[in-house]
Amino acid sequence: MAREKQKRCSFCGRSEREVGLLLTGSDVYICDECVERAHVIIQESRRGPFTQFDLDKLPTPHEIKDYLDQYIIGQDEAKRVLAVSVYNHYKRLEQKDNDDVEIEKSNIIMVGPTGTGKTLLARTIARLLKVPFTIVDATVFTEAGYVGEDVESILSRLLQVADYDVEAAQCGIVFIDEIDKIARKADNPSITRDVSGEGVQQGLLKLLEGDIVNVPPKGGRKHPEQDFIHVDTRNILFVCGGAFDGIEKKIAQRLNAHTVGYNSVQNQRRIDPKDLMQYVQPQDLKSFGLIPEIIGRLPVLTSLNPLDRDALRRILTEPRNSLVKQQVKLFAMDGITLTFTPEALDYIVDKAVEFRLGARGLRSIMEAVMIDAQFDAPSSGKKKMSVTLDFVRQQVEKSQRLA
Ligand code: ADP
Repeated sequence: MAREKQKRCSFCGRSEREVGLLLTGSDVYICDECVERAHVIIQESRRGPFTQFDLDKLPTPHEIKDYLDQYIIGQDEAKRVLAVSVYNHYKRLEQKDNDDVEIEKSNIIMVGPTGTGKTLLARTIARLLKVPFTIVDATVFTEAGYVGEDVESILSRLLQVADYDVEAAQCGIVFIDEIDKIARKADNPSITRDVSGEGVQQGLLKLLEGDIVNVPPKGGRKHPEQDFIHVDTRNILFVCGGAFDGIEKKIAQRLNAHTVGYNSVQNQRRIDPKDLMQYVQPQDLKSFGLIPEIIGRLPVLTSLNPLDRDALRRILTEPRNSLVKQQVKLFAMDGITLTFTPEALDYIVDKAVEFRLGARGLRSIMEAVMIDAQFDAPSSGKKKMSVTLDFVRQQVEKSQRLA
């Protein structure tokens, strides 16, 4: 009787007896050690090139802006500011410890109405740089010890995204949304304890500045017997965003105070009263209720414009993954050529403006318009479909009746 062939790891060649565990595939084997080695190789290959911070490969501010232009309509000023600060941030990581000119961290704060592209900007930059990226909502945090999440949980999420590769997480980007919601309720430091406002801002401070923070391994609440993961936040880039509803009033007050001067007439002529947000200054954030220490740690301040009709129309078709392109793709996968007439697109924009839903509204209107067609198309045998004004109008009216 032929002796059964000895099983060997197909990768390192060691026999079943020499290894801890040999996994069997169809005619191949792999030992536990090779699995572990393979895991490390895969982890490393998944890491973006910039976790090693090769300045030669770091895109220049122009390249960063060009990339953002493919996905985000308008917001040129914010794009330029972001491109420069992100570029500087990653240059800073290249700095040697013994350099006598230490480049300081440039965390960013973006102020602008909701749905104008703040999150999209931060997310798109992270994708370009291939660094771990997470979005957190400032409203879920409470001061340590109160019900709610501790600010450290931001880092747990970043670690999760980085697959617990601490080094990668330490060079990641965190987007803190709705930072305006943790503003102090009044510009008055003597107010009684404000659990969700100033306390949280204080908690955020050490993360923003850079500190070694102990993070419980799998999210969760702190537990004495757990081994903490030490995360150094010095090189994490924090990008904060907020709508800061009503900040225009503070800006106007400040501008008025300043325009009472001998060249006030000249100044007033240059100010566009319809978009005061663009004149935002750190002191306006303070009047709004952010504590000066937080403002100091968010040195790069930029604003986003409200999206006008023209911008909404472009958002429908121009970005690389625009809503129209996504629909065309979905139909193409069923072998159907989908087209939209310009009037149909104008109507969708009109509705988004009418419902005051901004860019987010475009998506929900598009979904309402396309749902029936998406339901029927795969079994219809059609090869072409044109979305016309009549069709869109009918579908929107129908969805409104149902709502
Ligand atoms: P914000 O963070 O400012 O509240 P988001 O970035 O989350 O807004 O925008 C919501 C959605 O609206 C995005 O996912 C995107 O589809 C669309 N959008 C918003 N602003 C723009 C823009 N300037 N260019 C392209 N799409 C945009």
